[in-house]
Amino acid sequence: MPYMLVVNAGSSSLKVAVYTDDLQLVCKGSVSGVQQWLTECGIALRDIVGVGHRIVHGGRLFIAPTIIDEGVVEQLEGLTPLIPLHMPIALEILRELRLLLPAALHVACFDTAFHVTQDAMARRLPLPRAYHDRGYQRYGFHGLSYEHVVQALPAQSGKPLPQRLLVAHLGNGASMCAILDGRSVATTMGYSTADGLVMGTRTGAIDPGVLVALMRNEGLTPDELQDLLYRQSGLLGISGVSSDMRELLASSETHAAEAVDHYCYHAARHAGSLAVAMGGVDAIVFTGGIGENSEVIRSKIMHHLAWMNIGTQHVVKADEESAMAAHVKKLLAQ
Ligand code: ADP
Repeated sequence: MPYMLVVNAGSSSLKVAVYTDDLQLVCKGSVSGVQQWLTECGIALRDIVGVGHRIVHGGRLFIAPTIIDEGVVEQLEGLTPLIPLHMPIALEILRELRLLLPAALHVACFDTAFHVTQDAMARRLPLPRAYHDRGYQRYGFHGLSYEHVVQALPAQSGKPLPQRLLVAHLGNGASMCAILDGRSVATTMGYSTADGLVMGTRTGAIDPGVLVALMRNEGLTPDELQDLLYRQSGLLGISGVSSDMRELLASSETHAAEAVDHYCYHAARHAGSLAVAMGGVDAIVFTGGIGENSEVIRSKIMHHLAWMNIGTQHVVKADEESAMAAHVKKLLAQ
């Protein structure tokens, strides 16, 4: 029986799933060791014909799922400066699994690839042009999640994909995407995964003047600034209680309530900006741990957007793994 394995290496967890060659999910889990988990699932290594690896950043080099060979591994290594917190761990898992499963087709699936349809206006950062040419541009992330929503929504709703679709992926990391006729036209994350919405521990969009002042006046080094922006801010920074939305909603601390309100208000402001990119919004989809599970957060955000008269609201369970499995299947078939 041929199986496909998909691997999603995050900073704190390794999510894995196995699919049959007709994309039926066999087992799924969050694990520390892949080999042992496969054995527990009763799957022999020799039956794995394809492996999908989630790679958060493809830079300008990778704009579609790509079969991994030594050359591709080297090119991915070269992208590490673009995504220093994610790439090393993804490459470590990639190397391990290529050794463990040498006969399988290994495929890199990129979170940035869904956004390559954006036009130059959406992608450019307003810096001198030479910086753009050196890679300082907006890329966008969470693309595998958005792909899944685009695939899954028509079947789930029983209707064609809405023309002007706003998708909110609200997890520990969070972003929104304006999807026009099934294609990304704008998104809130940009050069990095720190832009856009307020997140669990990341600031989201922040006045660039503040960054200069933090370095100049507070003496923060680049590493300290990175830690502040990615790990100490967002919901955690505002609340002083937790980065976890469930805990904040359960807390009686006033700063926890303030963090929740701040999160929803600014999410809605970003939604307004994305509405401009599509000339309106026909439907909104919530996905990700917060988007899927919290009616409170959804309704707070929708309350700010009431004036937009968005036709329909949907919840789609995030499933980057199935989007990856579909890519692996396609490349195996070629
Ligand atoms: P990741 O981005 O790491 O994959 P998830 O998509 O699992 O994270 O989202 C994690 C977030 O979802 C956490 O903030 C968690 O508190 C939140 N969450 C999960 N269930 C609920 C719930 N029932 N109500 C509110 N927030 C929830």
